[in-house]
Amino acid sequence: MSHDGAQPGATGLSAGRASSSVATAPEGVAVALSVRPHRTASSGAPDSPAAASMPVTGALVDRYGRVHSDLRLSITDRCNLRCVYCMSEDMTFQAREELLTFDEIERVSAVARSLGVTSVRLTGGEPLVRRGVEDLVARLRALGYDDIALTTNAVRLGPLARRLRAAGLTRVNVSCDSLRPERYASIRRRGDLATVLAAMNEAESVGLAPLKVNVVLLRGVNDDEVLDFASFARETGRVVRFIEFMPLDAPGQWDRGQLIAGREVLERIHAVWPIEPVDGSDHVAPAERFRFRDGRGEIGVISSVTEPFCGTCNRLRLTADGSLRNCLFANEESSVRDALRRGASDHEIEQMMRRAVWAKHPGHAINEPAFLRPHRSMSMIGG
Ligand code: SAM
Ligand code: SF4
Repeated sequence: MSHDGAQPGATGLSAGRASSSVATAPEGVAVALSVRPHRTASSGAPDSPAAASMPVTGALVDRYGRVHSDLRLSITDRCNLRCVYCMSEDMTFQAREELLTFDEIERVSAVARSLGVTSVRLTGGEPLVRRGVEDLVARLRALGYDDIALTTNAVRLGPLARRLRAAGLTRVNVSCDSLRPERYASIRRRGDLATVLAAMNEAESVGLAPLKVNVVLLRGVNDDEVLDFASFARETGRVVRFIEFMPLDAPGQWDRGQLIAGREVLERIHAVWPIEPVDGSDHVAPAERFRFRDGRGEIGVISSVTEPFCGTCNRLRLTADGSLRNCLFANEESSVRDALRRGASDHEIEQMMRRAVWAKHPGHAINEPAFLRPHRSMSMIGG
């Protein structure tokens, strides 16, 4: 893919109080960068937790003052792909009766809505392998959620996009780690790039725009496509977000040397097409957003490992089998499914949510020697 109008960046990104560095562009041009306006180098929220006890009314707040307004709903642990950084070839999936039914998901979502949760994201596994997702979207809409997002590999998105949109879906993130058909197939082990690109077009044509495209970069595998993806963002208006490889792959082969730090991605892009932080960038969103200075598009980086955003995390997660988790990297969870199936009241579900949020740690500990990898891998939690 060609890179239009490449002008080596001669000046630094202006905003930000975070650390600066000097990168050397491929052409040998020194580029001063100061690109971290919102994050801290440490992993988390304020050091000292509030002394108060857990609130029993009001919003879902943790002991560090983080108000939880976003619910990540995994609706299946199954998938029609086997991405190398996520699954192994021989995954064992949960029995269907172990998964929450749509009625159960609706019930939990209703309680969350009553506690001030305003946005939901459907994920998995691959959410679109579960039948009737549009029915679930309509139910969530009826509960009053006006921000209903979907993260998908898009293999099945094309034919479903219109119905999902009509049911009330508002946003879509599509995962796509290569723009080269053969490489796409080797990273994802199944599926094909053409189908995914066609689905992106279809989603946009029904009004699911601007589309976000998630790219997990692996050193020596697809990191030579950073500029191709930047060019793709410039040409299509899709917001490409580069995600750091996290230690949540099912085979357990994560290696820090394989991850490409968000900062490195920004430096590489900035050296060709100068970028600047997006003003008013949502401090809560995991992605740090940057626009191209010439006004042609936007990119983001999700630096979960090297520059964690735990300090502003507002997410509560529900796994497909009904466990509440307060973090991707949590080692504790509580089964709302078991409680529901024992006949728990809404009040009891509410208390479970409050306890889960209250127990949240100030930050994940990936970078600590004592880091304990969760038992569940990414697709079993819901990314
Ligand atoms: N199947 C859907 C998809 O791929 O978009 C939704 C679930 S997937 C687990 C959600 C996101 O997590 C995707 O963007 C995927 O690329 C990302 N992901 C999976 N494993 C990851 C890992 N080990 N590190 C970083 N991101 C990962
Ligand atoms: Fe499936 Fe998404 Fe995991 Fe890829 S990243 S294997 S598409 S769940």
